[in-house]
Amino acid sequence: MQIYKTIAETREALAGEALKNKIGFVPTMGALHKGHLSLVERCHSESDLTVVSIYVNPTQFGPQEDLNHYPRNLEKDIDLLRNYHVDIVFTPDDVQMYPEGYCTWVQVEGLSDILCGASRPGHFRGVATIVLKLMHIVNPKLMFMGMKDYQQIIVLEKMIEDLNLETKIVRCPIVREPDGLAMSSRNSYLTPDERQRATCLIKALKNAQKMVNEGHLDSSILISEAENIIKQSDGRIDYIKIVDGSTLQELPEVRSGSRMMLAVYIGNTRLIDNIELLP
Ligand code: AMP
Repeated sequence: MQIYKTIAETREALAGEALKNKIGFVPTMGALHKGHLSLVERCHSESDLTVVSIYVNPTQFGPQEDLNHYPRNLEKDIDLLRNYHVDIVFTPDDVQMYPEGYCTWVQVEGLSDILCGASRPGHFRGVATIVLKLMHIVNPKLMFMGMKDYQQIIVLEKMIEDLNLETKIVRCPIVREPDGLAMSSRNSYLTPDERQRATCLIKALKNAQKMVNEGHLDSSILISEAENIIKQSDGRIDYIKIVDGSTLQELPEVRSGSRMMLAVYIGNTRLIDNIELLP
């Protein structure tokens, strides 16, 4: 496993590889957990060369957000990755990715302004920009991303389509704790009491899925039931929406491919999760 901190070294190591080998890429912000590692395993099984990046991208955090507190543990992350079949780890710093005078941005209009984008203005601009930069450095055939960040996948798939890029995103299932909480680097912010209450997200989603299976398709009823479950655990709702899984447009009634998407504060920690309501 080679570890590179610079764009030049990474490019040099990968020079010509894209022609000979199928490069698989897993972009991350580190503080790796089993969710990330599931992507790395999938990448290894479907690619000839596995590249992982670890970079906490400052431009996707708002001014009031947790950039300075975001968990960072590069040594531990690298040790973890040594147990997997990773060929290259790219760990740039801010000077590499955003040198002085940097001023070019990627904006996927519309899709970036709803759901998480409505509460986190500029977030998806930062995500699209860094992922496009990383894609240009790594040149992957496949990019492995988790469906926990479902909107992120939809935004990036649109960017790939609109900019005629040749990378394909492989959507990977959400890895959960035994009690159903979606694994997330931000779960480490939760106190023991909050950690317990955080199970209300999956309870609300599973309840909606069960109601749909029983024939309840009215979005407003499903959403209000989900709200009740979140409020019982003292969660503060940012949004709960039922959307089309491809366009992310809100739906008054559940149909094939619909998803329930939610963002909830447990204490000061904002958690997201989502579920497909009808295949
Ligand atoms: P992050 O480090 O939070 O930027 O996440 C890096 C990648 O890991 C993204 O594609 C996430 O969707 C994915 N990921 C994060 N948590 C999970 C999870 N619990 N299950 C599956 N993928 C995840």
